[in-house]
Amino acid sequence: MKTQLIAILLIVTTGILSAQSGKSTSNYQQIEKQTDAIYSSLVEIRRDLHVNPEISKQEKRTSKIVAEYLRKLGLEVKTNIGGHGVVGILKGGKEGRNIAWRADMDAIKTDEPDVVNFTSKNKGVRHICGHDVHTTIALGIATVLSQQKENLEGTVYFIFQPAEETFTGAKDMIADGLFDIIKPDEIYGLHIGPEASGVINVKANELFAYMKTLKIKFKPSANEKELENFMNTLLKSFVRNIEQVGSPWDIINKISDPKIGLTNKETIFKDYFILQGGRLNTDKGVTFYNASFLETDVNKVNSTPSEIKKQILNSKFKDAFISIEYSKDYSGTPINDPELTKIASQTISSFYNKEMFIPLYGQAPYFGEDFLYYQQKVPGVFFFLGGSNIEKGINSMPHTPNFAVDETTIKYGVQSFASLIFERANSK
Ligand SMILES: [Zn+2]
Repeated sequence: MKTQLIAILLIVTTGILSAQSGKSTSNYQQIEKQTDAIYSSLVEIRRDLHVNPEISKQEKRTSKIVAEYLRKLGLEVKTNIGGHGVVGILKGGKEGRNIAWRADMDAIKTDEPDVVNFTSKNKGVRHICGHDVHTTIALGIATVLSQQKENLEGTVYFIFQPAEETFTGAKDMIADGLFDIIKPDEIYGLHIGPEASGVINVKANELFAYMKTLKIKFKPSANEKELENFMNTLLKSFVRNIEQVGSPWDIINKISDPKIGLTNKETIFKDYFILQGGRLNTDKGVTFYNASFLETDVNKVNSTPSEIKKQILNSKFKDAFISIEYSKDYSGTPINDPELTKIASQTISSFYNKEMFIPLYGQAPYFGEDFLYYQQKVPGVFFFLGGSNIEKGINSMPHTPNFAVDETTIKYGVQSFASLIFERANSK
């Protein structure tokens, strides 16, 4: 089903990007040309990063390359923010709005072999989440906007973040004074997604479901099997609309299905509770029941643990109950500012091929992204940028063993988001 969608989108991708008439047309066309001119050098950078991937908190080489590149462009550069974080500051020729763009830099541990011929030199580490492409696109945007400096109103901040995969990099950069260095009015970022190369997806509010892990402690009980069955039945009573039967991938693979996936208004990925795991373990005289859940409704995320506790205390296991612990933060989802999402959608659609801009509905399960920590400080929008190409056998579903990216998406990413940032900076 996913491959069908990609095939349909591919037909769209091969269409010619048509700039529409309007005040931004000439800027967009200029940015498009400038992007074409640097495209092959960007592909070289991306391949170098791909060959030399670094896991979270060890992005030493990557951040050095980024900092040197930004300095050569003439940007003001700050390094070692929250670890290997780098910030580049591009001041426009006139006053305007201040816009931040964030890219993440870290790779992932995996023993699966690389599917491209520019293979990773670092054994057991690969870019299977596309952060090499994110970093490259951000450098490309910085390049073309530097060339637009005289026309640029306002300041553009480029955030190159370490340790996204461990969900710590954004928090660490913020704790290390990121927002003392930069004062953005708006923040944007993207992730490579499974759609065809160049397709841009976005939606207002939550992109993903919320995730919580639960750890429920009991005194040792003679009826452990009975307790486990009771807990499983109790947790299953919360499940609505989507049930995880096999692996999470059985569900994830449906998000690209044109009939029920995220691009369809009638998507099944709306208003659901998915239960994961559910197992009793005994360790050092304490019995634990561990499970996790995905929930689309923030209010239900909050009320679910106390509701579970209430039901245990109303059961025959009330005397065995010790405590219920759960992850406190809403780990998971970026929350896109509705007004900025609307403006960004209209802006991109006004110069980009409209068929390449596809809104999303519902909330994707099993995904997490620490971009949300910036959005807690500054209104912003997080996009997906497709990287698949079915004809070339390229599938860009993040974290899959055969993850690969059609490099033409670098061009689409740079031209469309450099133009968006330019329009937003010049918008007042
Ligand atoms: Zn990622």
